[in-house]
Amino acid sequence: MDLKNKLVVCGEFKNLNRLNAQTGLIDGHVHLSEMEHPGRAVENAFRAGVKRMVAVAMNLDSCRKTLTLADKFPDTVLPAIGYHPWSIKAEDVEDTINFITKNIQRCIAIGEVGLDYKVKVKKKLQKAVFSKLLNLSVKYNKPVIIHSRFSHQRTYEMAVKAGVEKVVFHWYSGPVDILDNIIASGYHISATPALAYSPQHQAAMERAPVEKILIETDAPVQYGDRSSEPADLHETLLHLSRIKEMPADKLAEIVTKNTERFFGL
Ligand SMILES: [Zn+2]
Repeated sequence: MDLKNKLVVCGEFKNLNRLNAQTGLIDGHVHLSEMEHPGRAVENAFRAGVKRMVAVAMNLDSCRKTLTLADKFPDTVLPAIGYHPWSIKAEDVEDTINFITKNIQRCIAIGEVGLDYKVKVKKKLQKAVFSKLLNLSVKYNKPVIIHSRFSHQRTYEMAVKAGVEKVVFHWYSGPVDILDNIIASGYHISATPALAYSPQHQAAMERAPVEKILIETDAPVQYGDRSSEPADLHETLLHLSRIKEMPADKLAEIVTKNTERFFGL
Protein backbone atom coordinates (compact mmCIF):
# COMPACT_ATOMS: atom_id res chain seq x y z
CA MET A 1 0.00 0.00 0.00
CA ASP A 2 1.47 3.39 -0.92
CA LEU A 3 1.35 6.50 1.27
CA LYS A 4 -1.55 8.09 -0.59
CA ASN A 5 -3.68 4.99 -0.07
CA LYS A 6 -2.70 4.90 3.58
CA LEU A 7 -3.99 8.43 4.06
CA VAL A 8 -7.28 7.59 2.37
CA VAL A 9 -7.66 4.59 4.65
CA CYS A 10 -7.00 6.70 7.77
CA GLY A 11 -9.61 9.23 6.69
CA GLU A 12 -12.17 6.51 6.13
CA PHE A 13 -11.41 4.99 9.54
CA LYS A 14 -12.26 8.31 11.18
CA ASN A 15 -15.59 8.48 9.42
CA LEU A 16 -16.40 4.93 10.31
CA ASN A 17 -15.65 5.41 13.97
CA ARG A 18 -17.98 8.39 14.06
CA LEU A 19 -20.69 6.64 12.13
CA ASN A 20 -20.59 3.47 14.14
CA ALA A 21 -20.21 5.00 17.58
CA GLN A 22 -23.68 3.74 18.53
CA THR A 23 -23.98 0.29 17.09
CA GLY A 24 -20.58 -0.49 15.60
CA LEU A 25 -19.56 -3.05 13.04
CA ILE A 26 -20.14 -6.77 13.49
CA ASP A 27 -17.44 -9.32 12.71
CA GLY A 28 -19.49 -12.18 11.26
CA HIS A 29 -16.94 -14.93 11.89
CA VAL A 30 -14.10 -15.07 14.41
CA HIS A 31 -12.39 -17.95 16.26
CA LEU A 32 -12.01 -16.22 19.61
CA SER A 33 -11.54 -19.56 21.37
CA GLU A 34 -8.40 -20.19 19.27
CA MET A 35 -6.78 -16.90 20.28
CA GLU A 36 -4.13 -16.62 22.94
CA HIS A 37 -5.60 -13.42 24.41
CA PRO A 38 -9.28 -13.32 23.47
CA GLY A 39 -10.10 -10.64 26.06
CA ARG A 40 -7.48 -8.32 24.60
CA ALA A 41 -8.81 -8.99 21.08
CA VAL A 42 -12.34 -8.05 22.21
CA GLU A 43 -11.05 -4.80 23.75
CA ASN A 44 -9.02 -3.91 20.64
CA ALA A 45 -12.05 -4.60 18.47
CA PHE A 46 -14.27 -2.45 20.65
CA ARG A 47 -11.83 0.45 20.42
CA ALA A 48 -11.73 0.04 16.63
CA GLY A 49 -15.52 0.31 16.40
CA VAL A 50 -16.15 -3.43 16.02
CA LYS A 51 -18.69 -3.70 18.82
CA ARG A 52 -20.03 -7.21 18.22
CA MET A 53 -18.60 -10.43 16.88
CA VAL A 54 -19.93 -13.86 16.01
CA ALA A 55 -17.62 -16.33 17.73
CA VAL A 56 -17.58 -19.70 15.96
CA ALA A 57 -16.35 -23.05 17.30
CA MET A 58 -14.37 -25.99 15.90
CA ASN A 59 -14.83 -28.89 18.34
CA LEU A 60 -16.08 -29.79 21.81
CA ASP A 61 -13.31 -27.89 23.58
CA SER A 62 -13.78 -24.72 21.53
CA CYS A 63 -17.58 -24.96 21.86
CA ARG A 64 -17.13 -24.85 25.64
CA LYS A 65 -14.60 -22.00 25.47
CA THR A 66 -16.83 -20.02 23.10
CA LEU A 67 -19.79 -20.25 25.48
CA THR A 68 -17.57 -19.15 28.40
CA LEU A 69 -16.38 -16.13 26.38
CA ALA A 70 -19.98 -15.26 25.49
CA ASP A 71 -20.85 -15.30 29.21
CA LYS A 72 -17.86 -13.07 29.94
CA PHE A 73 -18.68 -10.55 27.19
CA PRO A 74 -22.46 -10.56 26.89
CA ASP A 75 -23.94 -8.69 23.89
CA THR A 76 -20.44 -8.37 22.38
CA VAL A 77 -19.43 -12.00 21.87
CA LEU A 78 -22.32 -13.72 20.11
CA PRO A 79 -21.76 -17.47 20.26
CA ALA A 80 -22.11 -20.04 17.48
CA ILE A 81 -21.22 -23.65 18.20
CA GLY A 82 -20.31 -26.32 15.68
CA TYR A 83 -18.00 -29.07 14.54
CA HIS A 84 -15.47 -28.08 11.88
CA PRO A 85 -14.61 -30.76 9.28
CA TRP A 86 -10.90 -30.44 10.18
CA SER A 87 -11.69 -31.42 13.78
CA ILE A 88 -13.93 -34.43 13.21
CA LYS A 89 -12.79 -37.66 14.90
CA ALA A 90 -15.05 -40.72 14.78
CA GLU A 91 -14.69 -41.33 18.53
CA ASP A 92 -15.77 -37.76 19.44
CA VAL A 93 -18.77 -37.38 17.14
CA GLU A 94 -21.45 -38.52 19.58
CA ASP A 95 -20.28 -36.36 22.51
CA THR A 96 -19.81 -33.30 20.30
CA ILE A 97 -23.21 -33.54 18.64
CA ASN A 98 -24.83 -34.12 22.04
CA PHE A 99 -23.14 -31.03 23.45
CA ILE A 100 -24.22 -28.91 20.49
CA THR A 101 -27.80 -30.21 20.77
CA LYS A 102 -27.92 -29.39 24.49
CA ASN A 103 -26.52 -25.88 24.10
CA ILE A 104 -27.78 -24.71 20.73
CA GLN A 105 -30.53 -22.58 22.18
CA ARG A 106 -27.94 -20.41 23.95
CA CYS A 107 -26.38 -19.63 20.55
CA ILE A 108 -27.24 -17.44 17.58
CA ALA A 109 -26.11 -19.97 14.95
CA ILE A 110 -24.50 -23.31 14.18
CA GLY A 111 -20.91 -22.95 12.94
CA GLU A 112 -18.37 -23.51 11.79
CA VAL A 113 -19.56 -26.63 9.99
CA GLY A 114 -19.37 -28.05 6.48
CA LEU A 115 -17.16 -30.17 4.27
CA ASP A 116 -13.49 -29.91 3.38
CA TYR A 117 -12.32 -32.22 0.62
CA LYS A 118 -8.66 -31.30 1.11
CA VAL A 119 -8.33 -32.75 4.62
CA LYS A 120 -7.79 -36.39 5.47
CA VAL A 121 -11.02 -36.87 7.43
CA LYS A 122 -13.17 -39.36 5.50
CA LYS A 123 -15.77 -37.72 3.26
CA LYS A 124 -18.45 -40.13 4.42
CA LEU A 125 -17.89 -39.19 8.06
CA GLN A 126 -17.79 -35.46 7.22
CA LYS A 127 -21.10 -35.73 5.38
CA ALA A 128 -22.72 -37.71 8.20
CA VAL A 129 -21.72 -35.06 10.77
CA PHE A 130 -22.68 -32.14 8.52
CA SER A 131 -26.05 -33.70 7.77
CA LYS A 132 -26.83 -34.11 11.50
CA LEU A 133 -25.89 -30.49 12.16
CA LEU A 134 -28.01 -29.23 9.25
CA ASN A 135 -30.99 -31.15 10.63
CA LEU A 136 -30.32 -29.62 14.03
CA SER A 137 -30.33 -26.14 12.53
CA VAL A 138 -33.73 -26.80 10.94
CA LYS A 139 -35.13 -28.21 14.16
CA TYR A 140 -34.02 -25.23 16.26
CA ASN A 141 -34.36 -22.65 13.49
CA LYS A 142 -30.74 -21.47 13.64
CA PRO A 143 -28.66 -20.04 10.78
CA VAL A 144 -25.70 -22.11 9.59
CA ILE A 145 -22.13 -20.85 9.00
CA ILE A 146 -20.58 -23.06 6.33
CA HIS A 147 -17.00 -23.98 5.49
CA SER A 148 -16.86 -25.36 1.95
CA ARG A 149 -13.32 -25.97 0.68
CA PHE A 150 -13.36 -27.88 -2.62
CA SER A 151 -16.90 -28.92 -1.73
CA HIS A 152 -19.06 -25.95 -2.74
CA GLN A 153 -21.56 -27.87 -4.81
CA ARG A 154 -22.01 -30.66 -2.24
CA THR A 155 -22.36 -28.34 0.76
CA TYR A 156 -24.88 -26.26 -1.17
CA GLU A 157 -26.93 -29.31 -2.20
CA MET A 158 -26.94 -30.69 1.34
CA ALA A 159 -28.12 -27.38 2.83
CA VAL A 160 -30.94 -27.11 0.29
CA LYS A 161 -31.96 -30.74 0.74
CA ALA A 162 -32.06 -30.37 4.54
CA GLY A 163 -34.35 -27.36 4.11
CA VAL A 164 -32.10 -24.86 5.88
CA GLU A 165 -33.38 -21.32 5.39
CA LYS A 166 -30.42 -19.21 6.51
CA VAL A 167 -26.96 -20.14 5.30
CA VAL A 168 -23.76 -18.14 4.96
CA PHE A 169 -20.95 -19.58 2.85
CA HIS A 170 -18.06 -18.16 4.78
CA TRP A 171 -15.04 -16.78 2.82
CA TYR A 172 -16.67 -17.86 -0.46
CA SER A 173 -14.07 -18.41 -3.18
CA GLY A 174 -15.83 -21.06 -5.25
CA PRO A 175 -17.15 -21.13 -8.81
CA VAL A 176 -19.49 -18.33 -9.85
CA ASP A 177 -22.20 -20.66 -11.21
CA ILE A 178 -22.59 -22.23 -7.77
CA LEU A 179 -22.57 -18.72 -6.31
CA ASP A 180 -25.54 -17.84 -8.54
CA ASN A 181 -27.45 -20.82 -7.10
CA ILE A 182 -26.46 -19.84 -3.56
CA ILE A 183 -27.83 -16.33 -4.10
CA ALA A 184 -30.97 -17.59 -5.87
CA SER A 185 -31.68 -19.77 -2.82
CA GLY A 186 -31.62 -16.67 -0.60
CA TYR A 187 -28.31 -17.66 1.01
CA HIS A 188 -25.40 -15.36 1.87
CA ILE A 189 -21.62 -15.28 1.45
CA SER A 190 -19.05 -13.54 3.62
CA ALA A 191 -15.93 -11.53 2.84
CA THR A 192 -12.56 -11.71 4.61
CA PRO A 193 -9.33 -9.68 4.45
CA ALA A 194 -8.21 -12.20 1.76
CA LEU A 195 -9.96 -9.81 -0.62
CA ALA A 196 -6.59 -8.06 -0.72
CA TYR A 197 -5.04 -10.88 -2.76
CA SER A 198 -7.49 -13.65 -3.76
CA PRO A 199 -8.89 -13.27 -7.32
CA GLN A 200 -11.57 -15.95 -6.70
CA HIS A 201 -12.73 -14.22 -3.53
CA GLN A 202 -12.77 -10.86 -5.30
CA ALA A 203 -14.76 -12.29 -8.23
CA ALA A 204 -17.39 -13.69 -5.87
CA MET A 205 -17.79 -10.36 -4.08
CA GLU A 206 -18.02 -8.50 -7.37
CA ARG A 207 -20.83 -10.78 -8.52
CA ALA A 208 -22.92 -11.13 -5.35
CA PRO A 209 -25.54 -8.47 -4.57
CA VAL A 210 -24.42 -6.35 -1.63
CA GLU A 211 -27.54 -7.35 0.34
CA LYS A 212 -26.25 -10.93 0.40
CA ILE A 213 -22.80 -10.13 1.79
CA LEU A 214 -21.58 -10.26 5.40
CA ILE A 215 -18.10 -9.20 6.49
CA GLU A 216 -15.72 -11.06 8.77
CA THR A 217 -12.07 -11.61 9.70
CA ASP A 218 -11.90 -15.37 10.43
CA ALA A 219 -9.33 -14.25 13.03
CA PRO A 220 -6.80 -15.40 14.09
CA VAL A 221 -6.14 -16.48 10.49
CA GLN A 222 -2.86 -15.08 9.21
CA TYR A 223 -3.07 -12.70 6.25
CA GLY A 224 0.38 -11.77 5.03
CA ASP A 225 2.80 -11.96 7.94
CA ARG A 226 0.64 -11.49 11.01
CA SER A 227 -2.31 -13.03 12.80
CA SER A 228 -5.57 -11.17 12.41
CA GLU A 229 -7.94 -9.86 15.07
CA PRO A 230 -11.59 -8.77 14.88
CA ALA A 231 -10.26 -5.17 14.89
CA ASP A 232 -9.01 -5.87 11.34
CA LEU A 233 -12.61 -6.00 10.12
CA HIS A 234 -12.02 -2.52 8.69
CA GLU A 235 -9.67 -4.07 6.15
CA THR A 236 -12.41 -6.35 4.88
CA LEU A 237 -14.78 -3.42 4.70
CA LEU A 238 -12.35 -1.20 2.82
CA HIS A 239 -11.45 -3.86 0.26
CA LEU A 240 -15.13 -4.57 -0.27
CA SER A 241 -15.91 -0.87 -0.65
CA ARG A 242 -13.37 -0.66 -3.48
CA ILE A 243 -14.79 -3.73 -5.21
CA LYS A 244 -18.38 -2.53 -4.85
CA GLU A 245 -17.40 1.06 -5.66
CA MET A 246 -19.39 2.21 -2.67
CA PRO A 247 -18.31 4.55 0.17
CA ALA A 248 -17.16 2.59 3.21
CA ASP A 249 -19.64 4.27 5.58
CA LYS A 250 -22.63 3.43 3.38
CA LEU A 251 -21.37 -0.11 2.91
CA ALA A 252 -20.86 -0.43 6.69
CA GLU A 253 -24.50 0.38 7.25
CA ILE A 254 -25.69 -2.14 4.67
CA VAL A 255 -23.52 -5.07 5.80
CA THR A 256 -24.33 -4.40 9.45
CA LYS A 257 -28.04 -4.56 8.66
CA ASN A 258 -27.46 -7.73 6.60
CA THR A 259 -25.69 -9.32 9.56
CA GLU A 260 -28.37 -8.29 12.06
CA ARG A 261 -31.10 -9.63 9.82
CA PHE A 262 -29.23 -12.86 9.06
CA PHE A 263 -28.54 -13.73 12.71
CA GLY A 264 -31.79 -12.28 14.04
CA LEU A 265 -30.02 -9.72 16.27
ZN1 LIG B 1 -13.35 -20.02 10.35
